[in-house]
Amino acid sequence: MKEIVVISGKGGTGKTSIVAAFAALAKNAVLADCDVDAADLHLVLEPRVKQTSDFSGGKQAFIVTGKCIGCGKCQELCRFDAIKFDGKGSDVVDKTFTVDPISCEGCKVCIEFCPVDAIEFNDSINGQWFISDTRFGTMVHAKLGIAEENSGKLVSLIRKEAKRIAEEEKKDLIIVDGSPGIGCPVIASITGADLVLIITEPTLSGKHDLGRVADLAAGFKMPVLVAVNKFDLNSDMAYKIEEDAIKRNIKVAGRIRYDKAFTKAQIMKTSVVEYTAGAVTEDVKALWRNVTYAF
Ligand code: SF4
Ligand code: SF4
Repeated sequence: MKEIVVISGKGGTGKTSIVAAFAALAKNAVLADCDVDAADLHLVLEPRVKQTSDFSGGKQAFIVTGKCIGCGKCQELCRFDAIKFDGKGSDVVDKTFTVDPISCEGCKVCIEFCPVDAIEFNDSINGQWFISDTRFGTMVHAKLGIAEENSGKLVSLIRKEAKRIAEEEKKDLIIVDGSPGIGCPVIASITGADLVLIITEPTLSGKHDLGRVADLAAGFKMPVLVAVNKFDLNSDMAYKIEEDAIKRNIKVAGRIRYDKAFTKAQIMKTSVVEYTAGAVTEDVKALWRNVTYAF
């Protein structure tokens, strides 16, 4: 079984559109959307969800109202301002308090100092992940809550599930839409994969981002390829990016021309290779051939 991860230095390079096109060309792969902070592969592949599970990225404090005596010690000590006055108390307590789950960093200080052990430390639910059917095969994807962290842990979980499903369904390929950037989620996206494809664009920031992602990927000792999307919008910069890639021992796997068909395909909730048989689809097919030959 092989696992291809498609990444980019930043969002908006066309990475997900290219992953959707690869899914259409591969026809029989397991798909994993690991861009969990801004997941959008589902917009093109229209998954039918078969299984939904909660994702817990850590633990958070929770005040048990019936035990709290309203002393306010926890609010006084919380450095993250996560404990809020929750209103007047009752016949038994003067005030009540609650924990704001978005602000709580799980440091446990309040738990240590509560005089009556009224604070529990429970799993926080930070999002959900899904196993779905798509027209191109099974897809594992997720929805992380607003301002939730620990997306690296969620990425690892999605990849692990995708691998389990690939084994179960006897599929020999996993295509991963990786996280953009160079942070924890992208490290979790590429660790242990068989090949990384970097999608970049012909701009100065695209060149700079390629350098950062390439430096990161180089540490993982796996084949790294690059493709310049919309290369004809700035051919000079595209060549500079390709020269830079070659110096870094990164193989140039393809160039994809600018074509409004990408956007039109997205609006139609389809991949570009399903939308048109034009030249841009030939570019994507050539890229896909080079990616598969690189294993
Ligand atoms: S420290 Fe404990 S008892 Fe005091 S307000 Fe906080 S939860 Fe209630
Ligand atoms: S666990 Fe830490 S951050 Fe969370 S409410 Fe308690 S003191 Fe504040």
